[in-house]
Amino acid sequence: MPHRVTLIPGDGVGPELTEAARRVIDASGARIEWEVEEAGLAVMEREGTPLPARVLDSIRRNKVALKGPITTPRGGGIRSVNVALRKELDLYACLRPCKHYLGVRSRFAGVDLVVVRENTEDLYAGVEFAEGSEEAGQIIALSGGKIRPDAAISIKPISAFGSARIVEFAFEYALNNGRRKVTAVAKDNIMKATDGLFFRTAREVAKRHEGRVEYDEWLVDAMCMQLVQKPELYDVLVMPNLYGDILSDLCAGLVGGLGVAPGANIGEEIAVFEAIHGSAPKYAGQNKVNPTALILSGVLMLRHLGEAAAADRVEHAVAAVIAEGKHVTYDLKPTRDDPTAVGTREMADAIIAGMALL
Ligand code: NAD
Repeated sequence: MPHRVTLIPGDGVGPELTEAARRVIDASGARIEWEVEEAGLAVMEREGTPLPARVLDSIRRNKVALKGPITTPRGGGIRSVNVALRKELDLYACLRPCKHYLGVRSRFAGVDLVVVRENTEDLYAGVEFAEGSEEAGQIIALSGGKIRPDAAISIKPISAFGSARIVEFAFEYALNNGRRKVTAVAKDNIMKATDGLFFRTAREVAKRHEGRVEYDEWLVDAMCMQLVQKPELYDVLVMPNLYGDILSDLCAGLVGGLGVAPGANIGEEIAVFEAIHGSAPKYAGQNKVNPTALILSGVLMLRHLGEAAAADRVEHAVAAVIAEGKHVTYDLKPTRDDPTAVGTREMADAIIAGMALL
């Protein structure tokens, strides 16, 4: 039986990248039936919303989606499709493997980390009060003089449920993917209530996995220094939303940046796979940007679907093309104006040709 997967091309460079990823996945040996659903800016103009119900219905039905990046214009008006998808589908875990591939220019070699970020709580919960508002005034009154009267306030909710769920996810991921250690990251010496709860909950979850996966804890500031000094000591990192947002970009930087960094947003039943990078509008339609991040997101998707052999085939072919350094996009060449750089489509062609040789 083929797997049915919702394919969201996105906008900007999204359509050319999803096309490249789709062709590579179709050549991997896995049988996928794609259900293409448009979302984003152009859809907003046609249908009045950037995320029509039919897109959500398709993902709910198929349980798995591969998504191109979608532009969120700055300033008010249009809500972010990316945030809406995570909220509507309760995709509580953001998974970002950061693995260095030979041939990608980076200050570090051999890095192989996975960042697991809680996606629904923390300062990103969207509970905010403007300076001078009645609600801000009430909280300021409660604070016993700790908050200035002209402060704007963002609330940081961290729940026992949300913490247990994300740490459990990290341990399950470690167990299912042959990982040896989970490191919890927060800042409980300062935020004793919220981050204290996160660490206490993490310890309880860790106890249930004792003997199978190691567990340790770091304060987020010290973790940043550790990661740039000794990234090889770490394996799976799990943390609340804000720290996860920052550290996942830091770790992507350790392995060569946006062009090669895949990701996934995962819930109890549904998973949406997408690159970390955005829609890079200035390159749209130019057949120029690197398809690797979206193709590697496809590799995560294939593993999620139980297609391990197909996933390995794609990953090995991607690694070989990058290591050879010939049929790669401009960002993987020694200089950005290298005339031997190939386009998005041609890099995908090289990966497909590489798979045929495996
Ligand atoms: P961006 O990631 O789109 O691009 C920043 C720069 O990174 C590009 O100009 C390019 O130089 C480089 N880059 C990005 N992807 C690349 C690739 N595949 N290959 C080679 N180089 C690449 O970030 P931005 O400019 O801040 O955001 C553009 C839009 O994308 C915004 O509207 C933003 O909201 C949106 N965005 C969407 C998502 C998503 O859909 N998940 C994620 C991030 C940003």
